[in-house]
Amino acid sequence: MSSPCIFCQIVNGKIPAEKIYEDNNTLAFLDINPLCRGHVLVIPKKHYENIFDLPSKELINLIATAQKIAQMIKKNLGATGINLLHASGKDAQQSVFHFHIHVVPRYPNDGLNTWPSSRYQEKDLRKVKKALCQ
Ligand code: AMP
Ligand code: ZN
Repeated sequence: MSSPCIFCQIVNGKIPAEKIYEDNNTLAFLDINPLCRGHVLVIPKKHYENIFDLPSKELINLIATAQKIAQMIKKNLGATGINLLHASGKDAQQSVFHFHIHVVPRYPNDGLNTWPSSRYQEKDLRKVKKALCQ
């Protein structure tokens, strides 16, 4: 039976990828449309869709692999910073529904601007905390 999930197909070798690292639980490969040079995706070998269905044990493995990749990028590509990015859900701009962490190298003056921020009114800060922690 063929899998419709593109990242599952990379795991089982049905479609090619530039693999950077793998172990029993995780796989890292180059993003085909990089935000910048050396942009890597870290995925679980088992299919999970997002942060809501991923067991925390898997997340621990994935973060450990992301750290290894970050160290490789710093040492071998000369990156001076790293962003770890993740999207769960289409409103978060997730486009491939197999859990993944983006390891994005950052370089001086690379032009990748950070997200905009806003400000809470004091009472709104407390309201949000109350809603979040109920
Ligand atoms: P997201 O939008 O956070 O779900 O990220 C999905 C990422 O997967 C995008 O950055 C794509 O460029 C990347 N991508 C999609 N297909 C492939 C592929 N076949 N090989 C490598 N990266 C891919
Ligand atoms: Zn999958």
